Amino acid sequence: MSLKAFDKHFMVKEGGRPSLARIDPRDKSFFKSREEAEESLAEDTAAINELQDKLYAESKQSLLLVLQAPDAAGKDGTIRKVFGPVDPLGLKAHSFKKPTPEELSHDFLWRVHRKAPAAGEVGIFNRSHYEDVLVVRVHGLAPSKVVEARYEQINAFEKHLSFYGTRVVKVYLHLSKEEQRERLQERIDMPHKNWKYNPGDLEERKRWDEYRKAYEIMLRRCSKAHAPWYIIPADRNWYRNACVARLVRLTLEDMKPRYPEAEFDPTGVVVE
Ligand code: AMP
Ligand code: MG
Repeated sequence: MSLKAFDKHFMVKEGGRPSLARIDPRDKSFFKSREEAEESLAEDTAAINELQDKLYAESKQSLLLVLQAPDAAGKDGTIRKVFGPVDPLGLKAHSFKKPTPEELSHDFLWRVHRKAPAAGEVGIFNRSHYEDVLVVRVHGLAPSKVVEARYEQINAFEKHLSFYGTRVVKVYLHLSKEEQRERLQERIDMPHKNWKYNPGDLEERKRWDEYRKAYEIMLRRCSKAHAPWYIIPADRNWYRNACVARLVRLTLEDMKPRYPEAEFDPTGVVVE
C-alpha cells in the first residue's frame, strides 16, 4: 500500500480542523482483525530494519518520529514494539521530561534541536517541543502571548529540519478517558506497574478537557505538508502498534534510502 492511502485514513490535512470527539479511540477499521494487525506488525518491523540499514549506509537523510499522547496511552510500548527489532546503533530515542534549570534558561527549542537525528539516523521523540504548547498551555507555565507565538516557531523549526534532510512525522496517540482510567488504576493495583504511577497523573486527568483543547489546537496549527500530524486510535495496543509501524515503514519507503555505490572497483578483488 502507499503512504497516500495511509494518509487518507490517519493524517491531519494542512488547514484541517480535526475534532477528537469525532474520532473513535477504539476504531479498528484499518486492520480487519487482531491477527492481521500482528502479522502486519511483524512484516513492517522487519522492513523498517532493512530500510534503516540503508538509511544509515546512505547517511544523507534522517527520520524524526514525534510521539505525543495523554498519560498511559502507550508511548513507551509503541516505541518498544515498532523499533524493538531495529539495530539500536541506527536509532536515537529521547524522552523529554520537565525542563532542567539549564534548559529553562534557553529558548524552548534549544534542548530539542540537540536531540534531533543526524544524517543516517532514525530519531524518536517520546514527548517533544509540543509539551511547550500542551502542559505549558494548560498550566499557564508561560505567558499566553509566548505560547501563541510558539506554534509558528515550531512550524519554522520543523521546516528548517526538513530543509536539512530530516523527514518529520508526528503521531498523536488517541486514548479515551475511560481507557486511561483503567490503565491508571492498573498502575495502582499491579505491583509491577507501580513504578509507572505518578500521583501527578491524576491531577493531569482532571484537566482532560483542557488538554483535549490544547491537542486540537496543536493538530490544527502544526500539521504541515513537510511535517504532518497523524491521529492513531490507541485504546487497543495491537491496533496502535501496527498502525505506527505501518506509518514508519511507508515513510521510510517514501524516503527511498539507497546503499551508496562502492567507491572502488570490486571486479576481480579477492580477499586471500
Ligand atoms: P513522563 O513522560 O511520564 O516521564 O513524564 C514527563 C513529564 O515531564 C510530563 O509530566 C510532562 O508533561 C513533563 N514535561 C515534559 N516537557 C515539559 C516542558 N517543556 N515543560 C513542562 N513539563 C514538561
Ligand atoms: Mg508518566
